[in-house]
Parts: sequence; C-alpha cells; structure tokens
Amino acid sequence: MDDLNLLFSAVPPLLGWYRLHKRDLPWRKQRTPYTVLVSELMLQQTRVEAVKERYVHFLQRFPTAEALADANEEEVLKEWEGLGYYSRARNLHKAAKIIKSEGFPQTWIGVRALPGVGDYTAGAICSIALGLPSPAVDGNVLRILTRLLADGRNTDDIASKKYFSKRLEVVFPKEAGEFTEALMDLGATVCVPNGEPMCGACPWVSICKAHARGEELLFPVRAEKKARRVEDLSVYVFKCGEKYAIEKRPPGGLLAGLWGFPIVPLGLGEPYMKQGSLLATKKAKHIFTHVEWRMTGYLIKVDRCEVDFAPTFAPLTWATPEEIKARYAIPSAFRAFKEWIE
Ligand code: SF4
Repeated sequence: MDDLNLLFSAVPPLLGWYRLHKRDLPWRKQRTPYTVLVSELMLQQTRVEAVKERYVHFLQRFPTAEALADANEEEVLKEWEGLGYYSRARNLHKAAKIIKSEGFPQTWIGVRALPGVGDYTAGAICSIALGLPSPAVDGNVLRILTRLLADGRNTDDIASKKYFSKRLEVVFPKEAGEFTEALMDLGATVCVPNGEPMCGACPWVSICKAHARGEELLFPVRAEKKARRVEDLSVYVFKCGEKYAIEKRPPGGLLAGLWGFPIVPLGLGEPYMKQGSLLATKKAKHIFTHVEWRMTGYLIKVDRCEVDFAPTFAPLTWATPEEIKARYAIPSAFRAFKEWIE
C-alpha cells in the first residue's frame, strides 16, 4: 500500500480509538475559539500536566477575549506566573485586543496572523475551534506518522513538517477537531516520545510499517542536537527588614520585562556582598531552550533599603513577600531563591 492510501486507512481506526480513549482535559469542556486559543498558547513548549490547573485559573480570571483585552499587562503576566515563555502571555493579550475589536478570525490566514500563532497553533485552532481541515504538525505528530509510514526523512528539517502537513490535508476527515486531537492523544499516550511505544494498545498496530519491521525506535530520524550554552551566574537576594530587592529585567533577551532578583555573571556582583551579611547560599539550575543558567544564590541582609547597587544592577524595587506575591510576576527560573522569601 502506498503512503497516501495507508494514511487514508489510518483515519477511521484512529477516530474510533479516540472516542473511547480521549484524555479528559479541562480545555476540552465548554469550548469557544477564545478558550482554544488560550489553551493552545499555554501548551506551546509546556507540559499538559503543568497547564491544566493554570488554564482553569486563567479562564476564571479572564473568561472572555474582552476581559483579557481590558486587563493591563502586569495583571496578565502575574496570572501567567510560573508557566514560562512569557512572550506567549504578551501575545495572547495582544491577540485578545484584536479579537475584541475585529471578532475571532474565521480563516487559517486570519488565525495565523494573530500574535504568537505559528503554523502548528493555527492548525490546531482552526481544526478544533473552527472545524477547518488544517493539520497541526508538531514533534508528536511527526513521530507517529514517521513510524506509521517508516519514513526516514529528517524530522528536524522544516521541509518535513510541510511534507506531512500536505499529506494530512489530503486525508483530513470532516471530524476535523477530533482528528487533530486524536493525533495529539496517540502521540501523548500510546506512541510516546520517551521509551518503547505501546503498540499493543495502538489502533494502528496492524498497519504500522515500523511496528511490522520491529523498528519503532528507529523513527523519527532527528538531526544531532546542538549543545545548550551554559551561563554561570550569581543571584542576589537582598533582605532589608521585611522587604526584598527585585528588579525589572531589561526589555530584550531572556525573561524580558519580567521581575526577578538581581542576577549578574558569576563574580561580577561580589563587591556588593560586603555591604551586608551573608545569611545563606544555594545553587540552582534553570534550562531554557538554548541556554542553561547555573546559578549561585546569595541571601544577604542589608541595613538600608535605599542602597544604590548601580552600576551593576538595574534600579531595585523593595517589596514585602506579600507585595511580591500579589503584584510581581517572578518567573520559575528564580524558584529556588523565591523559597527564601516565602
Ligand atoms: S504501532 Fe507502535 S510504533 Fe506504530 S504508531 Fe502505533 S504505537 Fe507507534
């Protein structure tokens, strides 16, 4: 059977399997195009388990695009706290303003033009929320399709995504949203990314070429990964009475415009340690997509909250733990040091 016919024959068993085994996820209840947009942006580069609870809170706080559009950016960032990749929150906020004034777009091109929406997210939103035959091809979908077809093309090559998108467009059934979510669920629960796939539970077990050859783990074929850049940094948690010093990070670069503890290349802030007494130190690590932060943190008691730490640090804001909790979004990169003030 050629690949296209194999794909056609894979659709009915996949839909049948999905109806019996679909995951119970909060964003699959009471859906609107706006709630699909929220969930898809939250799920970009973030695990389903980490999103579940945050999605519910976010929707309670901003139940409609209008409510989100009317909020200020600090409120939105605060509600996004801990999810990481904060540009998604800013993009969602901008998208809500567009939707408030122009309505939710009804075409792939219109959805794709929303801030923060790439090809995958546009495909997911269009198929799930609008019922359009728009494939959403990510690493999970590439994995299951390359296994089904025993296709050895390099899945890190952008052309591979385009190739499989075109193929899926041809076989897309009228149950567009179910099809997209069935592909997602098969990749998440059966044909899993780490370890052996559970072929015995797979609706494609009798047609999968990789399984027939016992070559499941040979697919997908990937390019060699580049190593992450490692940055060694010092994090200073200055304590003055009940208050702690935080700084707004610069508008560009990692965690742009968010709040955090003063952080500098390792060794650069050491003269400032002499301005107070050292209460504790700890080490922590945070991994971004291309960079790894290896941090040494110093909890330092100082006598005056007005100390000028320039030029090494940006102007500092002094706040109590309660004020920080209520008003300032501190990303999870600083989680280990935030424990000192909680
Ligand atoms: S049969 Fe196995 S390898 Fe093939 S798609 Fe299903 S789980 Fe993946």
